[in-house]
Amino acid sequence: MKKYSLLLLLVLTIVSCKKDTVTAPPNPTGTAAVFSFTDGSGNCYTPIVQGTYTVGTALNSSNIAIIQVFVTKTGTYAILNPTINGYRFTATGTFTSTGLQTVIMQGNGTPVAAATDRHQIDSSPTCSITVVVVSPLPTVINDNDHMYFGNPSNAALLTDSINNYLMRKDYYALSYSRDRGTPNWVSWHLYSNDIGSVSRQDDFREDISLPSGWYQVTDASYNSAGFDRGHHCPSGDRTNTIAANSSTFLMTNMIPQAQYNNQIVWAGMEDSLRRLVTLGNEVYIIMGSYGIGGTGNGGFKTTIDAGRVTVPANIWKVAIVLPNGNGDSARVSTSTRVIAVDVPNNNSLFSSWKNYRTSVDAIEAATGYDLISRLPAILQATLEARVDNL
Ligand code: MN
Ligand code: MN
Repeated sequence: MKKYSLLLLLVLTIVSCKKDTVTAPPNPTGTAAVFSFTDGSGNCYTPIVQGTYTVGTALNSSNIAIIQVFVTKTGTYAILNPTINGYRFTATGTFTSTGLQTVIMQGNGTPVAAATDRHQIDSSPTCSITVVVVSPLPTVINDNDHMYFGNPSNAALLTDSINNYLMRKDYYALSYSRDRGTPNWVSWHLYSNDIGSVSRQDDFREDISLPSGWYQVTDASYNSAGFDRGHHCPSGDRTNTIAANSSTFLMTNMIPQAQYNNQIVWAGMEDSLRRLVTLGNEVYIIMGSYGIGGTGNGGFKTTIDAGRVTVPANIWKVAIVLPNGNGDSARVSTSTRVIAVDVPNNNSLFSSWKNYRTSVDAIEAATGYDLISRLPAILQATLEARVDNL
């Protein structure tokens, strides 16, 4: 009898070690699944972290980490990470099929300190979820602040926030990606005081205020690349002083932008927004890009400058238009004009920016950002779903 159970154990061991995922039998309910956080080569599947993580703000249903696991035997699972810096990610459930599976890990708790946290996933010694916790924005935000309506990606002023690094400048603010060599987004306020008679300085140059050791994109980085040095905050929006205009020529304000995208669609929209200012409005503008690969004069490219600058696939802009006045957030209503565009980065564009209008919600879905997050959720829901048609 003892011999038989030993034999049975041997057979079971062989079956459970078998990697054939097609014929794996369903596991009876209640028994534990077998799965791995790494692929066949031992590499971790890359987790996707969603939601914003702010000191003192309890996590909610938007704070999730989407991970992938490779299931070799179906059954129940409980991935219970320890609490780090006041919060943790957990997931429990049942795998009903084998192979690569997606698991949504729910965040719980309240972050204690601004930090970049690495939550090791379950028992895995190598795989982790990286989360950047930021300090809350000051409770008093002055009118005309370049980040008046929020921090779309929760960019942090921490040198280890390498691809979402916050830079607050006198004339605009931005989130910088070291690895892309471009900003993720740039945010600025535009009103009549910004418009003067200073001529275009054209002093494209590296940004020496980047953390030490980071590659500084230079004017020459875009030479013979087939793409324009595409401004985010435009030269034309900063013509009241030489310093203001010159600041727009820092390379941290640039993306490789297809010539016709830049000079036809984008220039047209910039002119339209300045015209709204001339007509008695102030405008809060956020511009960014996402994706990889665009088509410039030299054809399709994913990077320039020997791979150090990523060519984005899409370029977007959101503008909130208010009649001149004070107490701006209180003046935003469901009838406030919000203009959003999302334009492919290619050279075959000859039409008006108006043909590329979309909703803020669509840009949020494409980028994972939360735009105009300072506004109450109910106001965001209305304004972000609408597509401008004026
Ligand atoms: Mn939204
Ligand atoms: Mn939003």
